Amino acid sequence: MTRPPILISGAGIGGLTAALCLASRGFRVSLIEKRTKLEEVGAGLQLSPNASQILIGLGLGKSLSRVACSPLSLDVRRGQNFDLLARASLSDMQNRYGAPYCVVHRADLQQILLDHVRGTAGITLQFGRTVSAISQNPEGLEVTLTGTSQQELIIAHAVIGADGLHSDMAKVMGDTSIAKPSGYQAWRGTLPMGKINPVYEPQRTTIYLGTQGHAVTYPIHGGEQFNIVLVTREKSHETGWSRMGDASKLHQTLKNWKPLLPLIHHMPQWQVWSLYDRAPRQRWSYGPVTLLGDAAHPVLPFLAQGAALAIEDAATLALLLSQTPDHPAQAFALYQQSRIPRATRVQETARKNGSIYHMPFPLSLARDLVIRRKNDLLLADYDWLYGWSLQG
Ligand SMILES: Cc1cc2nc3c(=O)[nH]c(=O)nc-3n(C[C@H](O)[C@H](O)[C@H](O)COP(=O)(O)OP(=O)(O)OC[C@H]3O[C@@H](n4cnc5c(N)ncnc54)[C@H](O)[C@@H]3O)c2cc1C
Repeated sequence: MTRPPILISGAGIGGLTAALCLASRGFRVSLIEKRTKLEEVGAGLQLSPNASQILIGLGLGKSLSRVACSPLSLDVRRGQNFDLLARASLSDMQNRYGAPYCVVHRADLQQILLDHVRGTAGITLQFGRTVSAISQNPEGLEVTLTGTSQQELIIAHAVIGADGLHSDMAKVMGDTSIAKPSGYQAWRGTLPMGKINPVYEPQRTTIYLGTQGHAVTYPIHGGEQFNIVLVTREKSHETGWSRMGDASKLHQTLKNWKPLLPLIHHMPQWQVWSLYDRAPRQRWSYGPVTLLGDAAHPVLPFLAQGAALAIEDAATLALLLSQTPDHPAQAFALYQQSRIPRATRVQETARKNGSIYHMPFPLSLARDLVIRRKNDLLLADYDWLYGWSLQG
């Protein structure tokens, strides 16, 4: 008897990758998305080797290499005076971890994933739908979908909530805890590479540190665009992926960052996100229903690992499900057990990085000294993170 499909709710980076990972292991997938279409959102995304190896394993390497860039190094500078504190080479990531560190436009990655999903037999994708209820029946899980003119019932073998930070799936399963504003906000923008002064060394990834905030810059879109993310403290907060930012506020906050002001000044528009955080969920899996990506464990972007973790989740979940295909509850229990410790460590490390990046004077002097000493060995502390690979 053919098994019913696995239903995935949410076609973000996690949901699209999960659909591909499951299909590659022979499962049929029904992917639903609340939005009526996937629009370009956000700007750049760093893809570390723990994530890029999975995408390459899915056959996306060629498409990725057309749009991704491989920065020469990770530089750390002081935001106020441009002082170079450390330069860690990124070119040996491939040798060290078996996959590249690359940077992409988020929309480029989403498009690649979407094209592969559309080209994969066994995956159906429907927009404008959400899950409103799940119950068990003799054939599998009876899932109620809403969003179309009338409710629709489908039978699923298992259900995966990949529906992001404010996961509705978690609520359907009875977890009403909420993500809290973190007190940070992210400003993101891109500029054509031709407009970038070479002094910014646009072929590298650079982190600028400062008490008022920090910035990260790198090339995207096959090197045609320059991506800037600035993270500042904020008192108020708003939900949603993006809204337009008032650049005068940014000028005021970062008025002492003289070297970066021309870049900030030239940006035609900023998209702003309030950043949210949550204590690790104790439970991701409810029998044959589970959570994945930001729905399970949002990560502050100070380690550039939220999407990477969602991609790791997707690969792990598909592997475990393939080992006990008729017993999704068993696979999801193992998935939760194997992933929660790692996700928690990443969440905690990212939070700690936030305090380090924004350290006030004079503590920042000691921080800068430590970073200078590490220099090329800056990334050696992250072997546990980048050296992850799927066991099975
Ligand atoms: C400023 C910033 C910079 C970042 N930089 C990096 C980086 O460099 N590297 C990195 O790895 N990560 C980075 N991240 C984190 C990364 O963007 C997220 O962790 C990642 O997008 C999570 O993917 P996801 O698929 O779990 O969730 P999402 O991308 O949020 O996707 C969830 C999807 O579910 C849909 N949805 C929502 N509700 C429902 C519903 N009820 N039913 C159906 N569908 C629903 C949404 O419309 C969306 O399409 C950054 C984040 C921010 C804010």
